[in-house]
Amino acid sequence: MEKRSIEKFKKVLVDVKKKIEENIDGLNETTFKPGSNLSHYPDDPSYIANDEYEKPMAFNIMNVDQSILEQVNDALLKIENNTYGTCEKCGKKISRKRLEAKPWARYCVKCREELEKSGQVQ
Ligand SMILES: [Zn+2]
Repeated sequence: MEKRSIEKFKKVLVDVKKKIEENIDGLNETTFKPGSNLSHYPDDPSYIANDEYEKPMAFNIMNVDQSILEQVNDALLKIENNTYGTCEKCGKKISRKRLEAKPWARYCVKCREELEKSGQVQ
């Protein structure tokens, strides 16, 4: 992949990383300070009304974000090591289209499908 493209993906990845980190910080503030509502769901009264449901839901979002954050960090590491855009399973190049949809993709479409079928990834 040419350097210019890698720089572009790097910028996207850094942005995503920043957003996730802000999101996690925001959740920490809204969820764990006593007496505060989850401002992320102002339109859904069920989140505000019932304290019991707020925390598990927030934890869930944090887990999802954190797993993406790990993948984003991995992708940034690969950019540093000049291995970005290469499938971890077969070693072939991951298509540009796929990386544009998901810049932290670890596998090419074919391997991803195989892993999904065998239940190794969701
Ligand atoms: Zn592959």
